[in-house]
Amino acid sequence: MEENNKSSRTKRRCSFCGRSESEVGFLITGINGCICDSCAEQAHEIVQEALNQKKKAAGELNLNELPKPKEIKSFLDQYVIGQDDAKRYLSVAVYNHYKRLLQPKGESDVEIEKSNIIMVGSTGTGKTLLARTIAKLLHVPFTIVDATVLTEAGYVGEDIESILTRLLQVADYNVAEAERGIVFIDEIDKIARKGDNPSITRDVSGEGVQQGLLKLLEGSVVNVPPQGGRKHPDQKMIPVDTKNILFICGGAFDGIERKIAQRLNTNVVGYNAAKEQVKIDRSNLMQYIAPQDLKAFGLIPEIIGRLPVLTYLNPLDRNALRSILTEPKNSIIKQYVKLFEMDGVKLEFQPEVFDYIVDKAIEYKLGARGLRSIVETIITDTMFEIPSQDVKHFVVTLDYAKAQIGKANLSRLQMA
Ligand code: ADP
Repeated sequence: MEENNKSSRTKRRCSFCGRSESEVGFLITGINGCICDSCAEQAHEIVQEALNQKKKAAGELNLNELPKPKEIKSFLDQYVIGQDDAKRYLSVAVYNHYKRLLQPKGESDVEIEKSNIIMVGSTGTGKTLLARTIAKLLHVPFTIVDATVLTEAGYVGEDIESILTRLLQVADYNVAEAERGIVFIDEIDKIARKGDNPSITRDVSGEGVQQGLLKLLEGSVVNVPPQGGRKHPDQKMIPVDTKNILFICGGAFDGIERKIAQRLNTNVVGYNAAKEQVKIDRSNLMQYIAPQDLKAFGLIPEIIGRLPVLTYLNPLDRNALRSILTEPKNSIIKQYVKLFEMDGVKLEFQPEVFDYIVDKAIEYKLGARGLRSIVETIITDTMFEIPSQDVKHFVVTLDYAKAQIGKANLSRLQMA
């Protein structure tokens, strides 16, 4: 009996490669046949490849279908208030990025190089929002990473290559897709050189990171740890070519206005001072930003050279804050109205309430980020009560808003 079993087992063969059970690792048995472990693995690879091809064909870019810079900008206009210059630069850069991807390889002597971007503007003025909004429109993988977590290899923190791990993840580990993606590196100013003198302690999260980043920005094949974090010897690395990856960097560069002012002052005393009659708007110096200011702030010249498109974001004034509250397609107010609508309640605000919210945001220096917290403070009680009440309509009056804010301590929102 046992003899019988044994002979029937040795007869089983892989229906694909024909090897017997004793020649393979193990056999998976189906209704009418078997497959061995290595054929199953190969089959898996074939399926993956076919799926990737299919996906690639579906996402193939076509110049006629590309959104033109003006269309990209008007899309941004729906979500982001103001910041026209930054929007124009971004729209052109993204459009050119697509065109570069469409460039037939080796057909022309003119190879279009990428133009990575750097956006400078105070915190909360819409840098990340711009990047996120662009992402909504794109047909290429896109990710946002934070430069503050990066350190030079060998130190506590994340390896610079981990920036690309995120991109690989959003591209479902499809390397070819990731290689045409866009990466937004936030807080790039936090890796500025700390002081002018090389100190005894190494600058592992500043200049060291900038050096590492350079490799990525200029385009080279980088070994990426598939799971991110720290590289370790047993991990299988994925080589990614960054030549066609567009990098958009953003940073607040706190205090850079001083460097701009210094430069402008020295320029004015220069020999062509008489010619330079252009009036300088001292209330918004950011608009005069130039590469040398970034250098004065502590970015190394090589990095600046690799970020040829430099643009800025304006500080948000009262009017901008007022518009942010109600105008964008998914403005804060529209979001709360929607929340109430889901309970069958019509939520309305007296228009004076909006001005009051803006006043408070300015008074407590909360910026655009604070607007949401203020609205939240005003209507939290209502959101708590209303779902259990038989109310179909709620109007937030100025008196109600004042009373709610009076109960709360807005200063706790500062630095939130
Ligand atoms: P940054 O990246 O410049 O620090 P964010 O883009 O994260 O700032 O902005 C913070 C929040 O403030 C956003 O989620 C958005 O609600 C609001 N906000 C800031 N600037 C704008 C703007 N120009 N238009 C619309 N909303 C804005």
